[in-house]
Parts: sequence; structure tokens; C-alpha cells
Amino acid sequence: MTPRYQELLATLRRQFPQPVSDPVHDAYFVFTILRALDQVDALKSQMPMLGGPHEPDYAQAVAARMLASGQSLEATVPQLVAQLQGMFLWGHPQSQVNVITHPSIAGIIGVLLASTYNPNLCSDESGRGFSEAEVKASSMAAALVGYDPSRAGGVFTFGGTGCLFYGLKIGLEKAVPGAMRRGVREPVVVLASEHCHYAVLNAAGWLGIGQESVVRVPTHLDNSLDVDALGKAARQALAEGKRIAAIVAMMGSTDAFGLDDLRAVRALRDLLVNEFELDYNPHIHADAVIGWAWSVFNDYDFTANPLGFRGRTVRALARAHNRLQHLRLADSIGIDFHKTGYAPYISSLFLVQNAVDFGLIARDREAMPYLYQSGTHHPGMYTLETSRSGTGPMAALASMIMLGREGFQTLLGHIVEMAEVLREGLEAHPDLTVLNGDNVGPVTLFRVYPPGVDTFTIKDRERTDAGFQRKVEEYNRLNRQVFERVHAEALAGAGVVISMTDCYRHTDHGVPIAALKSYVLSPFTSEERMRSIIEHVLTARDDVLGRNVD
Ligand SMILES: *Cc1c(COP(=O)(O)O)cnc(C)c1O
Repeated sequence: MTPRYQELLATLRRQFPQPVSDPVHDAYFVFTILRALDQVDALKSQMPMLGGPHEPDYAQAVAARMLASGQSLEATVPQLVAQLQGMFLWGHPQSQVNVITHPSIAGIIGVLLASTYNPNLCSDESGRGFSEAEVKASSMAAALVGYDPSRAGGVFTFGGTGCLFYGLKIGLEKAVPGAMRRGVREPVVVLASEHCHYAVLNAAGWLGIGQESVVRVPTHLDNSLDVDALGKAARQALAEGKRIAAIVAMMGSTDAFGLDDLRAVRALRDLLVNEFELDYNPHIHADAVIGWAWSVFNDYDFTANPLGFRGRTVRALARAHNRLQHLRLADSIGIDFHKTGYAPYISSLFLVQNAVDFGLIARDREAMPYLYQSGTHHPGMYTLETSRSGTGPMAALASMIMLGREGFQTLLGHIVEMAEVLREGLEAHPDLTVLNGDNVGPVTLFRVYPPGVDTFTIKDRERTDAGFQRKVEEYNRLNRQVFERVHAEALAGAGVVISMTDCYRHTDHGVPIAALKSYVLSPFTSEERMRSIIEHVLTARDDVLGRNVD
């Protein structure tokens, strides 16, 4: 009699891709994917979400248990598809929530291939051609941002946060040699803009630098770092005997697309090295997880404008280019393909200008006796992670190959054009203001006011007038209520999914200014859809103010 386990094993083997060519089973594999997609398709409607409004049910979720016996593939897949109920469709033209991308088919296939054949990028003994894909994707990105690909190095990691970990860690080792072995025993600082992503604080905390050692430098009204203030902060830290682990430049901040002046930051760094006779170069990390993609415009002819963007769009693209063309001046750069690269999560590349910098954080081979017995390329000797998936590089490679620079120019140009359409509409309406008017990216922060407010002067009054701060708070509440209304409508399947930020920036008197936020990334957005946002917001405001009582 066949033992029970042998029977089970025979069934289980059919639930795996076959290691040896078996076209019949391949058809079963592909068909199972197809059926899963079919089940997802049944969840689609005109709404910006799958299967209609649906809130996660955590009470039921905590009751979930693994059963004694397994289930068939056919029974398993629908249970996975069920998790897509209520999922937002980031690619839907009415979905403008945040910097979350709609991945392209090529990117998805890149992930599928890597998931199916499961490379580990730790070393090319297990990564094989996927390790090569990582080098290819890194080199393509390096050349794009203006690094010399023959000197630069790159590793894919767990997000823009991971990129910051690397940037700060390498910088720390430059400022405090031996910190990797002995820990951080000297006072160090990280200098960053007050608008830096909280991931900077997180990385500083986890790296033992300490969140309180992150100096938040004031910004100009266009949300770029005040480089004079940076100079002051740096000189003060150095005069106090502290070492600078890193200067973080924001190259496209999350809420406001703020772009720091990297050229000035770099000049300041070089000046400080001489002035204080430093025995290290304070490391400059460019947090370009959002802005990097604009590098595709480095060779765009803004005068001839061959892609035919509107005047406002060309101006916005050219202004972004003006700052982003200097990315190559940073010592390292964080790039998120899963943000502005139309790749599925997680696809983040940490690039260093000089691959030798990786040597600073490399471990001794003796510490890893079971690794690196063969192969020639072992990023695992310096990466933070041990196992690393091949999905990131494959998704990135897919985007770069399929879109090319022109495809990227088209997609980015389109989303900026859509944001400009929205801004134009907002500026033309007496009850609405754009807060990040100098903004040249795809995110628009705006506020709605009661009718009759003088929106020509309101922004300055809110920011500077001490006697007006109570009003700022009142209008914050109004905007929050409008947001909740628009959001509830969207969850009920009508209207548009936008988001909100509680603090776009502070007034001169320390009161946070809240704002409604539209983040356009979808290739499917149209002018008409952008204009409909304005109607939705105004109707919601009237409802909140009780002007539309049924
Ligand atoms: C999103 C973001 C991060 C964090 O990146 P993850 O990929 O989410 O880890 C860091 N900096 C900026 C500016 C961001 O927008």
C-alpha cells in the first residue's frame, strides 16, 4: 500500500511549477493565473476600487488559523482574490491619493518571472542572470542621472527608507571610521530639510545616530532647503566638535515636490571641508526617490518641445530639470521605481557615485562562512539584507526597457500637464487657493474657503498675520470636513479619491496649515477628470457649510 504521505506528495507536486518541460502543466499554471485575473475582472466597475466599498474586517481576520489539511489550488485562489475587495485602483483616473504607482504589464511580468524562479541577489551563485539584471538596471539608472556607470555602484533594497539607511550608514562610516565595529561613540549629526521625509528620522534612530541628532534646516517658501541656514547649522555642529554623518538633499519631497539646490549644497560641503580642515567629506545623500525620474528630461529640448506639451507644462518640466540635472553631484542617490517608475513594490535602488564606498560597510568574509563559495559578484558582503529578491531589479529593468526615455517623458509630462490643468482651474476659482503654487511636480496642495473670503490675500494672511491664526485653524477644520465628505463619497463609489495632509507647512506663528491633496500618477487621467475634482470639492464644501440642505 502507498503510504499516505506519498499520495499527498503526488497532489502537492501538481501545485508547483514543473522543473522539467511539461507544456501541459505549463498550460495549467498559466490558466490558473488567467482564472485569477478573471475573478479580479468580475470585481471591476467604473469605480476607482475593486468590488465596491469594503472595509477590512480585522475582528474576523484575527480568527484566521491554518487548518490541518490543505486545499486545492482552485479553492485557494478565490480566497486570495477575495482580499482584493475594496482595493483602490491606483491607475483609475479618479484615484489621486498619494505617490502610489500603477505598475505596467512589463513590470508585473518582471516580478512574476523573478517570483517563479526565485533568485537570491545575495550572490550571483544564487542570483545568476538576475544578478546581472541588477547591474544592468543600476548602470542604466546611473547613466541616466549623470553618474559614470563604470565607477558607480548600486543595490536594490527595501524602499526609499532602505536607501536612506545606506546613505546615512556610509556617511557615518566616513565621518566616524570604525563605527560599524565599535558603534557610534562620538557626537554626530545628520543635516536635512525641515521637509525631509520621516524616513530620515527613522534611519537615524535605527542606525544609533539618534533622531534628535537630525538637524532640521528651514526651507524657502518653494520648499527647498535654505542653503545659508544649512551652512549655519553645519558650522555650529562642527564648531561644537560634532561630525556630520550626512547631509540629506530632498529631490522631490513627498507632499510638495520640493527640490533642493544640490549644486549649492555641494559647494557648501566642499567649502566646509577646507574651512574646518575636515579629514572626511561629509556625505551627501540625495533623497530622489520621487524626483529621479525627471532625469529623462536631461536631454529634452524644451525650446523645440518635440512632444508638444502645453506652455505651462514645459515651464514646469524645465524648472524641475533645472534642479534635477545636478543629481550627479550627490555622493549617493535613492531611487524608487515603485514611485515614479511605474514598477510594482518593492523596487528601490540605492546608487553610489563611487562603488568603492561599499567597501566602507563590507563585512569580513570569515564572518559568513557558508556564503560566497562560488561566483564572482557578492553584494551580500555589504548589503543590509542577507536574502534579496530579484523582483526589484526585474521590475525596474522592465520599465526602463519598455518605456525608454521618451516613454518616461510622455508619462511624466502627462501627469504634470494634468496637475497644471487642476492648478489652472483652482487658481481661476475665487474660493480656492493652490498652496504649492511654485510646485512643478504632479502633486497639488490646495485649500477651499467659505464663499466671500479674499483668496488673493488669504495665503499671506494665514501665514503671517498673528491675529488670523484662529481662522487658520477654523479653515483647517473646514478642509478636513470637506476631505472627509469627498472621501466618504469616493468610498461609496462616487467621485474622486484624493487625500489630505494635516500640515503642508507651519505658519510663521507655528500653526500647521492643512491642505487637500491631489497626487496624479495614472496614465489614464484626463483633463475632464481633473476639472471634476473642483466641482466635487465645492459641492462638498457647500454641504459642510449647510448651503445645500435638501
Ligand atoms: C516615499 C518616500 C520615502 C520612503 O520611501 P519608501 O520607498 O516608502 O521606503 C523617502 N523619501 C521620500 C521623499 C519619499 O517620498
